Amino acid sequence: MIALKSAREIDTIRRSGKITATVLTMLMKAAKPGMTTAQLDEIAEREIRARGAVPTFKGYHGFTASICASVNDEVVHGVPCDRPLEDGDLLSIDIGSTFEGFVSDTAVTIPIGTVSPEAQKLLTVTQECLMLGIAQMKAGNRVGDIGYAVQRHAEANGYGVVRELVGHGVGREMHEEPQVPNYGSRGAGPELRLGLVLAIEPMITQGAREVEVCEDGWTVVTKDGKLAAHFEHTIAVTADGPKILTLRDFGEHPDVAHYRPKEESIV
Ligand code: MG
Repeated sequence: MIALKSAREIDTIRRSGKITATVLTMLMKAAKPGMTTAQLDEIAEREIRARGAVPTFKGYHGFTASICASVNDEVVHGVPCDRPLEDGDLLSIDIGSTFEGFVSDTAVTIPIGTVSPEAQKLLTVTQECLMLGIAQMKAGNRVGDIGYAVQRHAEANGYGVVRELVGHGVGREMHEEPQVPNYGSRGAGPELRLGLVLAIEPMITQGAREVEVCEDGWTVVTKDGKLAAHFEHTIAVTADGPKILTLRDFGEHPDVAHYRPKEESIV
């Protein structure tokens, strides 16, 4: 069953999303060569709890950390560890927090130090995929419209779209119905109705789209070892169109300002 949210519930998810986005911005600023993802995870847990929320990921199906930290060919669900980040790495940070009973879920992939133009292009296109998917979140559209928009842009750039993992409804639980694939057909799937809240999260690969799970039982990597990127927002379908509930506050953080034009110009 797809649970629609009231305006009041959406506002609570927005407040949850503000916490999640604020802490994610802190992690984006902190992530540098030499730092470990375990250190980032410590910051995340401390800062989420300091704001009266709970890290949603911690303990979820036995996951031991508050963020997923996935490096280079790791697509998603990387477990934070003591290996230092290196100049040229791509780091995907996925984070969720639960505030007053409501979950928000968001992710970014960022360059560590200087990355190749090819890697930077993968980041740009994946973020564009997210924003094009979000732009489809209008009442009356269908879930397939989101996947179609994401897939079309990724494949037009020669990239792969991961099939095994999908976006999802979010709110009372981290994973609610419906599933939101990053591929699909226009006009297919459940209708997007006012009050629907989704986490849209394109997972895009530089090479082939096939992935596998590592021996740790969590980390998803590309089979061909090529790079992957992952961007995610929690968004509500409202009468005024799509409303991103995990938008970061760019004004306070000029070093991530390069993310702003795309988010504002598309939605
Ligand atoms: Mg998610």
